[in-house]
Amino acid sequence: MAAETHAGTPAEDAEGAAGRRDRAVRAAVGQGLLDVDPLVCLLDVAGIRASAAALTGAFAAALPPGTPVLHAFAVKAAPLVPVLRLLADCGIGCEAAGPGELALARAAGVEPGRTVLDSPAKTTDELRGALALGVAVNADSRQELERLDALVAAAPTRSPVGVRINSQTGAGAIDALSTATATSKFGVALRDPGAREWLVRACLDRPWLTRLHVHSGSQGVPLPLIAAGVRELHALAEEVNAAAGRRQIDTLDIGGGLPVNFASDEETPTYGQYVAALRAAVPALFDGSYGLVTEFGRSLLAKHGLVLARVEYTKTTGARPIAVTHAGVQVATRTVYAPAAWPLRIVAYDAQGAPKTGAPVAQDVAGPACFAGDLLATARELPPLAPGDLIGVPDTGAYFFTAHYGYNSLPRPAVHGFTRTAAGGIRFAPVRPAQDLPSIVAEAGAAFRDALL
Ligand SMILES: *Cc1c(COP(=O)(O)O)cnc(C)c1O
Repeated sequence: MAAETHAGTPAEDAEGAAGRRDRAVRAAVGQGLLDVDPLVCLLDVAGIRASAAALTGAFAAALPPGTPVLHAFAVKAAPLVPVLRLLADCGIGCEAAGPGELALARAAGVEPGRTVLDSPAKTTDELRGALALGVAVNADSRQELERLDALVAAAPTRSPVGVRINSQTGAGAIDALSTATATSKFGVALRDPGAREWLVRACLDRPWLTRLHVHSGSQGVPLPLIAAGVRELHALAEEVNAAAGRRQIDTLDIGGGLPVNFASDEETPTYGQYVAALRAAVPALFDGSYGLVTEFGRSLLAKHGLVLARVEYTKTTGARPIAVTHAGVQVATRTVYAPAAWPLRIVAYDAQGAPKTGAPVAQDVAGPACFAGDLLATARELPPLAPGDLIGVPDTGAYFFTAHYGYNSLPRPAVHGFTRTAAGGIRFAPVRPAQDLPSIVAEAGAAFRDALL
C-alpha cells in the first residue's frame, strides 16, 4: 500500500493517518474550533489526495496507455462542493444520483463530460437537462429507455447513454446495500426469463446506446462478487457487439462499492487488490478494447473523515459508565440504527486534544438525541472519559457526517479540511459552516408560521 499512497507532503506521508489525526485533533483544540461548537468534523486533505492517487494509479498501471478512463466520485458519499473540487483537482469526476448532486458537481466546476447521472427515478425533465448538458446517463429501467427514445429522437445529444444491468449475482453482508440480488430495485435484470435476449435487442435497436453499467452494491460486497458482476457486464457487451457486427458498446461503467475497513487504520482492500481481482475474473476488461468508468464513493473518503465531539457529562447507570457526547444519530445514523452492521472506532482525547491514556473501562458512548438507542458504542473499552474530554470517531468521511440526519433539530456540524503547513503546523480550511439556529428555524417553515391556522 505504501507505494500507492504518496500524495501529501513527504512529512504528511511519513506521519501516517493516525499521526495526522492526532495532530489535527490537538490543533483543532489549540485553534479554538471546539470553543465555537461542541461537535466538529474534520477531513484529511492529504489522505483524500492519497486515495485518489491510489485509485487512478491502480487502473493506469493495469490498462494500455491511452485507454479512456473516467473515475467518477459517487457524490452521495460526501456531497460537499470543496470535496468535489478537491477530487476534480485529482483527476476525478462525479457520479450524481439526482438533480441535487448534479447541481453540486456543477457548482464544483466538474465538467458535464466528466459527470455521470444514475438514479432509478429520473424525471423526463432531468433526463432532458442531462442530455442537453452532455452528462453521461445510465438508464435504470426498460421504461426509462423508452423515455430516452423520445428525447434522443427530439434533440441530438453529446451525452453517452448506457443501461444499468442487475447481474443478479447475489448479496453481500449488508442486505440494504446489496444491489445485485434477484429482486433488487436497480437496473434491468439479466437473468430473468427472456431478459438477456431483451437487453441485446434493446441495444441493437438503439445505436446511440454505447455503454453498459453495473454496480453490485456497497460496503459488505466482497471483491469476488463485485468481479462476478463485472464479468457478466463484459460478457453482455461482447454479445451485443458480436450481434451488432461492430463495437457498439464502447465503454463499461463498473460502478463502485470497494469495501472499507472500519476496524483499524489499515486501508484494505486496496484499489490495487480490486484491480487484481477484476483482472483475474475478467482479463479482457484490461485489454484496452473498452473505455472504463468507475464510481467509487466510500473507499475514496471514509478513512479521511473524523467526528470530534466533546463529552458533556458522564454518569454510571446499572454499573455501566456512560459518556454523553455531542455526536450521535445526527452524524452516525447507520451506526445508531444498525450497530452490528456499522461498528465505528472511538478514540479518547483529553480536553487539550491529547490521546487519553489510562486503564480501559467498558463504557457506553452516547449521543445527544432523545431516544435510548442513540449510542455510538456500547460497553466499549476506553480510558475513563470525563466531562470536557473529546471523542474522535475515525472513518466517518463518507455517508456519516456528510449524510446528516435532522433528528431533534440537531444542527449540521461544521466541516473543516486540514493540511500540514511547511512549518509543521496544521491549517484548517472551512468546508461547510455549522447550521445556525435561524436556518434551522427557517427550514422548519418559519415563513409559513400561520399557514395551518
Ligand atoms: C452508491 C453508489 C456508488 C458508490 O458506492 P460506494 O460503496 O460508495 O463506492 C456507485 N454507483 C452507484 C450507482 C451507487 O448507487
